[in-house]
Amino acid sequence: MHFDDSEHFDVIVIGGGASGLMAAATAAARGRRVLVLEKNPECGRKLSISGGGRCNITNAEFDVQLFADNYGDAKKFLLSAFSQFGVQETFDYFNSRGLQFVIEARKRAFPITHSAPDVTQLLIEECKKISVIFKTSSPVTKIDRFEGEILSVSTRNITYTAESYILATGGMSHPETGSTGDGFPWLSKLGHTVVTPTPSLVPLAVRERWVTDLQGITLKDVKISFTVDSRKAFNKKGSILFTHFGVSGPTVLHSAKGVADILPEGEVVAHIDLFPTLDDGTLSRKLIELFDAHKNTMVKNVFAGMLLTGIVNRSLAVANIAPDAQVNGVTKEQRTRLVKALKDLSFPIAGLLGMDKAIIADGGIPLSEVSMQTMQSKVVKNLFLTGDLFHIVRPSGGYSLQLCWTTGFLAGNAA
Ligand SMILES: Cc1cc2nc3c(=O)[nH]c(=O)nc-3n(C[C@H](O)[C@H](O)[C@H](O)COP(=O)(O)OP(=O)(O)OC[C@H]3O[C@@H](n4cnc5c(N)ncnc54)[C@H](O)[C@@H]3O)c2cc1C
Repeated sequence: MHFDDSEHFDVIVIGGGASGLMAAATAAARGRRVLVLEKNPECGRKLSISGGGRCNITNAEFDVQLFADNYGDAKKFLLSAFSQFGVQETFDYFNSRGLQFVIEARKRAFPITHSAPDVTQLLIEECKKISVIFKTSSPVTKIDRFEGEILSVSTRNITYTAESYILATGGMSHPETGSTGDGFPWLSKLGHTVVTPTPSLVPLAVRERWVTDLQGITLKDVKISFTVDSRKAFNKKGSILFTHFGVSGPTVLHSAKGVADILPEGEVVAHIDLFPTLDDGTLSRKLIELFDAHKNTMVKNVFAGMLLTGIVNRSLAVANIAPDAQVNGVTKEQRTRLVKALKDLSFPIAGLLGMDKAIIADGGIPLSEVSMQTMQSKVVKNLFLTGDLFHIVRPSGGYSLQLCWTTGFLAGNAA
């Protein structure tokens, strides 16, 4: 078989998303002749919509151990990778190329321009500056192997060869961005394990102490609503069970899929309405009646038989009312705050618990099947893997993109 020289490269990157662009830029910076094959007419569609369009680019936790704590069982694999290219290196990489970051709640770092497309553009420009060749609208349809190595990759009408191949085709979420999971059947055929995605019915992990302190308590006939970065997402009515790891019960289990879908977009908060059939005004009038009937009682005792102690205590704390205060000393403002608390007890969701008590299990290739120094496949010699192709559980907060910067850099540095 003869291949035109112009179609032979040192490195071919399949997929021009976050991790593919980082890998291409890193390989080209080492003087490698790099080709990026991207299915879409332009690169980085998912990156450009990340973080609700603002791109939560990483998480400003600079302690590698503490940062890696967020990846559950994958921590032991990732420590060495983050030590080579971690949060500090991500800051340095983008900051030194003119993109500064701002840090928001939960140490989430965003570009100062609050624009995800700016991140995509920076990477594409970086690649072009160092002569990366892009072929967009070029879906790879076939990977040929010969004796344990990739021999070539083909689009519909062109076959390309290279010394090394970096597969960066991403996972399966938001397929409209191009991430349709193309890499998984190829990798399976090449001999890799592909872990199937998270089950959709799973409990939710919560870190707030007051929630886990309520373990064993069930709330019946309540409404649970979810917001993402303060925007309303969806709600369900039913029972909620508090557990030592967060919340569960049928209503929560059936919310998990919806939560999994919105977690990548930002901070997800659950809001419990303890009296979903009463509007604020009606609940306020009922409270006045209740308080009138118990004027000289401690406020924490007024709800006996109606609400569980733990819930009463939390509601009073949110409303800033001392549990031992006399009912007749409760001000109108405090009562208004209490009504609000009873209709909106909120807590952030840390993630989903999977079969392995994981946070978000996306499915994909286990990290044990690559070298963590180089992201080189242990199954196929000249193949490197990056980004969402891996089966790594992580919460929202910039942890997914940091994986892309880390694995993309390591692959580009070795391929
Ligand atoms: C709505 C949303 C918001 C998010 N927000 C954040 C956030 O703020 N912070 C964060 O850390 N993470 C966030 N994430 C997750 C993050 O965006 C991903 O982890 C990251 O983009 C994955 O990068 P990747 O390079 O692995 O793959 P992708 O970005 O999925 O890129 C894969 C690329 O490969 C191309 N491709 C696929 N198949 C082929 C083929 N056969 N031939 C050629 N090209 C192909 C695709 O078109 C695509 O361009 C978000 C995810 C979503 C869906």
